[in-house]
Amino acid sequence: MGRVRVLSESVARKIAAGEVIDRPLAVVRELLDNAIDAGATRIEVRWEAGGTKLIEVVDDGQGMSREDLELCWLPHSTSKIETEHDLETLQSLGFRGEALASIAACSRLTIDTCDRDDGPAHRLTIEGGRNPEVRPVSGVRGTRVRVEDLFADLPARRRFLKTPGAEGNLCRRVLEEKALGSPQVALTLVVDGVRRLHLPSQTEAERVVAVQGAPWKAESLVSWAAEAEGFRLRGYALKPPLSRSDRKGIRVYANRRPLQEYGLVQALCYAFEGYLPGGVYPQAVLFLDVDPALVDFNIHPAKREARFRNLGTIHQTVVESLRSALTAQNLRFSSPEAVPFQEPLAFDAAPQGRSGPALRGRAQLPSVSAWDVADLTSASEVREAPGDDFRYLGQVLGVFLVAEVGDTLYLVDQHAAHERILYDAFRDHGGKVQELLFPRRFAPEEDVQPLLEAQWQAYEALGVRVRPLGGGEFELLALPQTVAGMEKTVIEFLRTNTKPVADLEKDLYASLSCRAAVMDGDPLDPAAARDLLRRTFALPHARCPHGRPIWTVLTREELFSKVGRLV
Ligand code: ADP
Ligand code: MG
Repeated sequence: MGRVRVLSESVARKIAAGEVIDRPLAVVRELLDNAIDAGATRIEVRWEAGGTKLIEVVDDGQGMSREDLELCWLPHSTSKIETEHDLETLQSLGFRGEALASIAACSRLTIDTCDRDDGPAHRLTIEGGRNPEVRPVSGVRGTRVRVEDLFADLPARRRFLKTPGAEGNLCRRVLEEKALGSPQVALTLVVDGVRRLHLPSQTEAERVVAVQGAPWKAESLVSWAAEAEGFRLRGYALKPPLSRSDRKGIRVYANRRPLQEYGLVQALCYAFEGYLPGGVYPQAVLFLDVDPALVDFNIHPAKREARFRNLGTIHQTVVESLRSALTAQNLRFSSPEAVPFQEPLAFDAAPQGRSGPALRGRAQLPSVSAWDVADLTSASEVREAPGDDFRYLGQVLGVFLVAEVGDTLYLVDQHAAHERILYDAFRDHGGKVQELLFPRRFAPEEDVQPLLEAQWQAYEALGVRVRPLGGGEFELLALPQTVAGMEKTVIEFLRTNTKPVADLEKDLYASLSCRAAVMDGDPLDPAAARDLLRRTFALPHARCPHGRPIWTVLTREELFSKVGRLV
């Protein structure tokens, strides 16, 4: 073992650096934090080869003087706190004074900066934590940080990296997380020389919609706010029935930092109880501003966790304020008494329909395990299909196609009907597969990767040919002929599916048909509507792939008795 010795400063620093900077995304996170702390209004981010070759962050913030530049990369050097008491009033994202030191230790670091509009600018260069040099440069405002050849002389750390594509995806996720926390800052992202994202300075609601992407849009938002002793909160949620089959649409921030705080995620889910069917989760973003004296962020090197002194009160306030915001929306689910004649129409027997008709949004893909449950018959559904002999009357409530057959009105859920037709068609591929001209590479989400690594062969039986490429990446080689052209949706499924292999076929085709089917609110021209009805009435199973009935009926008798007429 040799004698005990004190490690040289440079070795010690490299080891310590691994705690903060473990992969490119950590560099992106720390540099963005620094730019935001410097009061930037505009930030440009650039990376190449997933951040392993280059990560550059340019900001228009306050910059640094020559003296600050000389110090900023040394361990435990920070301008943000002086004593531990400053943590009680901390407003900045950084405070540990470790990020630049850690980055400097494991890359080639260049910082150009200038702290005054017309003052002198300087450049600091350091290689692998050695030979710092500072010299004057010109044409700089704010700060430009370049991190090149990350981990070049740390083969052990390099070996743990995924492919550039996968590392790039992780960096992108961090950038989006930070973008949500600071909506007033305009952000541009350039990846391998191509501009991938531009977000102007925005309101919080606009930023949430822009970053979360479809199905988020302004019209579908419920926003709410509340405050109590020591904290304020604002939140944005998608109106039910929009939801997801996992918790990934839920984000929680405290003092602009994304947090993994299960208690608060749970609070958001809890508030939605009764508004969403079982087994699905809401989509919501919660921003907390907490008195720094009541929260400790110094328990996790990447500040992903925090300890709140008043978590109980926060939890309760989140649930209560969100519930009253949902109640104020007057959603049908919450007020059945406002719709007195709903009973005959309600899809009572629907497996997930805990609280009335379950309308779906684009992103909601409930489990299809209820698919062949036998005892789900509802009175209206078992009625015979009318065949070709119907009169199409129109589309109502954005969801239903209405057809008259004899003295009965058929109300057909257009999305569910289309979904079922596509589902049957997709599944019926008879083993015919279509090879892709160019195999498509993809990286599954982090928590899906081990699952896909274990299960990829199971897809082969379904006509979906996938191969692992190593380093967390896969490629898609072939698709069932019936879904040729839907490779994007298939890849999305492969990237995110966490359901067990037993239901794989149903889940896959249910998800594909749900994406491809007409949506609630999509207008249909009469010819298309008639065609859809004809095929719907020819279906052997009048249930959507998730197990809900496709249509319901209203008879002349029911209508007459509702208005008190004699039949
Ligand atoms: P921390 O952010 O925890 O203070 P860092 O190592 O990230 O530690 O940065 C050290 C110091 O360098 C910061 O406290 C700040 O004064 C300065 N600094 C870093 N990045 C910037 C920037 N983009 N603009 C202005 N100053 C910066
Ligand atoms: Mg910092």
